[in-house]
Amino acid sequence: MELTAEKHSIPLSDGNSIPLMGLGTYGDPRATHKGSGYEAVKVAIEVGYRHFDGALVYFNEHEVGQAIREKIADGTVKREDIFYCGKLWNTFHPPALVRPALEKTLKTLQLDYVDLYIVELPLAFKPGDDFYPRDANGKWLYHETDLCATWEALEACKDAGLVKSLGVSNFNKRQLEMILNKPGLKHRPVSNQVECHPYFTQPKLMEYCQQNDIVIVGYSPLGTSRDESWVNLKCPPLLEDELLVSVAKRYNKTTAQVALRFNLQRGVVVIPKSFNPDRIRQNFEIFDFSLSEDEMKAIERLNKNIRFVELRM
Ligand code: NAP
Repeated sequence: MELTAEKHSIPLSDGNSIPLMGLGTYGDPRATHKGSGYEAVKVAIEVGYRHFDGALVYFNEHEVGQAIREKIADGTVKREDIFYCGKLWNTFHPPALVRPALEKTLKTLQLDYVDLYIVELPLAFKPGDDFYPRDANGKWLYHETDLCATWEALEACKDAGLVKSLGVSNFNKRQLEMILNKPGLKHRPVSNQVECHPYFTQPKLMEYCQQNDIVIVGYSPLGTSRDESWVNLKCPPLLEDELLVSVAKRYNKTTAQVALRFNLQRGVVVIPKSFNPDRIRQNFEIFDFSLSEDEMKAIERLNKNIRFVELRM
């Protein structure tokens, strides 16, 4: 399927384009059974998704890669139709570890390049085999890091052809400025992946990113799963919001579709996660209706400035 600039993609500053609709592939390893990422990606490609949001620490890149390769082999898509985003995890920030981390992702996916590679968090953990290192008292083991040096190692990966575009995730304005103002900057971050949905609309960060040609990719666009081990349950469930429910009724859509459409209409790329075939289809059926200006404004007013994903680390 051709990606149309109008509906599925917006141009990135380096000439590549990013599909406006993606499938998040984080399936909680404790709750997700083996093979569900593989099945989900295959269904999603058949439905029309082309953008897949993955990461080494989602522990299913082998499944996602296998599904993508099989759909290329059976002629459904070509490699260049797919937009895969991988992430540099916190234990790989020292410059010497950056390329090996990306190469590990490529080897697991069995692909020659990723389309986008992003710094997952602007903080570093102690390098080593443990992805979540803590001391005997349960305190996180951080690592002295220089984000600019990490960025230069990423630039070298792009120059070597391992990745088409570079980006970041969970960066605030100050951290973005650090990269953008880096002397000798060779490749700008093209995107910033952050939590974004009607209860956390990110107006200031959005404005800054738009001014600087950085695409906002909105994660947890449906308000996440309600998993108390990592989700702030003080925030009420987004999909039960009264206004979203009433707008959804008006268009004969679901609240999930309205939440996704809201972000799409304001230029935010959405990466809803679902491993359920019906919901994968449902989440893609958002290109056949549009919200009015008044509805957009009313949904914007739902902003509570509360994160579902608090990233307590
Ligand atoms: P989300 O997409 O907002 O919500 C996912 C939850 O909603 C799942 O429990 C899913 O269950 C359910 N769901 C999906 N479609 C639905 C629908 N139409 N109606 C009702 N429920 C629906 O949250 P997320 O998983 O936190 O975020 C999405 C993706 O963003 C992740 O997969 C990951 O790729 C990325 N992410 C990145 C970061 C980061 O730090 N960069 C952080 C968090 C997430 P089913 O699977 O059963 O449908």
